[in-house]
Amino acid sequence: WGALCGARREGGGAMAAAAALAVLGPAPGAPSCPHGPALLFVKTCQGKEEGRRFYACSACRDRKDCNFFQWEDEKVSETRLAAREEYNRSHQPFFTHRQNVDRYKNFILLPLSKRRFCQECQQLLLPAEWEKHSDHQFLCDITTAQLKSPSQLLYPLENKKTNAQYLFADRSCQFLLNLLIDLGFRRVLSVGTPRLHEMIQSKASQEEEFNVRSLLLDIDFRYSQFYTEDEFCHYNMFNHHFFGGEAAHETCRKFLNEENGERVIMVTDPPFGGLVEALASSFKKLMAMWRETEKEGHDNREMPMFWIFPYFFESRILDFFPSFSMMDYQVDYDNHALYKHGKTGRRQSPVRIFTNLTPSMIVLPEEEGYRFCTVCQRYVSSGNQHCEICNSCTSKDGRRWKHCVLCKKCVKPSWFHCNNCNCCTLEKHSCEKTDTGCFVCGKAGHKRSTCPSLSRT
Ligand code: SAH
Ligand code: ZN
Ligand code: ZN
Ligand code: ZN
Ligand code: ZN
Repeated sequence: WGALCGARREGGGAMAAAAALAVLGPAPGAPSCPHGPALLFVKTCQGKEEGRRFYACSACRDRKDCNFFQWEDEKVSETRLAAREEYNRSHQPFFTHRQNVDRYKNFILLPLSKRRFCQECQQLLLPAEWEKHSDHQFLCDITTAQLKSPSQLLYPLENKKTNAQYLFADRSCQFLLNLLIDLGFRRVLSVGTPRLHEMIQSKASQEEEFNVRSLLLDIDFRYSQFYTEDEFCHYNMFNHHFFGGEAAHETCRKFLNEENGERVIMVTDPPFGGLVEALASSFKKLMAMWRETEKEGHDNREMPMFWIFPYFFESRILDFFPSFSMMDYQVDYDNHALYKHGKTGRRQSPVRIFTNLTPSMIVLPEEEGYRFCTVCQRYVSSGNQHCEICNSCTSKDGRRWKHCVLCKKCVKPSWFHCNNCNCCTLEKHSCEKTDTGCFVCGKAGHKRSTCPSLSRT
């Protein structure tokens, strides 16, 4: 799915006409690559399945990172199966998590002058290993403070296609943490949010009254050097695979079990190129794990969740989680390619919080320009005007949107109504329909930027 999803991520420009890839999900009996069970895919043409179904790696959208491929109906010989198993084994990390935890214990006993971190191998070095890394770049005098902020020490894996590690700006991270504390949560399941995890861990070790705990689930195994098995699980969120097997699964289950009335919230910030259906399927499994920890069952409640994702995925997320709503808060990052510079000079982030909590409880900072709309019963961006006709604050991107009586909805300020197309769109557009499937809804006839499902009311 590499080539296709890569193109989709950049906005669909390079995408082959009308073609798209659909994930048919984690199929029972799927073959495995080093990243756990592969996902079943099919090519689609205008929504219809076309061609042979195939398995590909769930985690890597770049074939350079993992080139696993198998037709669904392919017969795989015993020899090839054995070779594949051997390959998968040999492609696991060199040190186990346990070994890394032991290494860390030894590392912190070292005097500052002997604490080295190899930048090339992204690994804490023990003195006996210096020799082997002698021609690598390394950092010296690694302080305890540095060990407590691994996300600063490790370089972000910006490889867009696979890891897409975009770290929260301090302000946004602090906001998220304060928000969930104010909401009364004491446990955070951090799925792909190493910086939030790190902020919680480091406060917990420094401030005595701070009583929030976090468990990090992430595919980036480098973090196992800094956290114990109770603090980090090597996890793939596209196929709900725990690399640490049943023990890691159990760690997660135990963490979700709300003993002593400590309420749990899951916070996740997946790579944006990721397939929403695969993510949703994994998140439902995590929700089910939470539900099953309670003997009487949580009735019909869902595990509270913040899913951090760009606003143009709103309709896709709501398809899978109808109880979710999108908050206006713009999540900021330290290193984000998706940023545009708005008129105010402030960076405008397209990334939002989707949550199944009651919107009125999500208090957004007034000093950053958010206000409470009493009709909508939620906080909105200052530019987001309440439309009397739609009876809602309709802007998705923070700018003031305008109502079109013909379309019977609010549209972006830069759009106008085209009588040819019978809808609002950019002034500069060609009226003839393109047959390229849309990035958001998959339907033909429009691109992502003009997708009607984006302004769902
Ligand atoms: N903003 C967050 C980081 C989000 S970047 C923060 O600052 O904490 C996306 C995160 O998801 C990265 O940590 C990356 O390692 C992780 N990730 C990427 N693919 C993943 C996968 N298949 N399974 C689990 N985690 C994944
Ligand atoms: Zn793989
Ligand atoms: Zn409103
Ligand atoms: Zn309107
Ligand atoms: Zn219109």
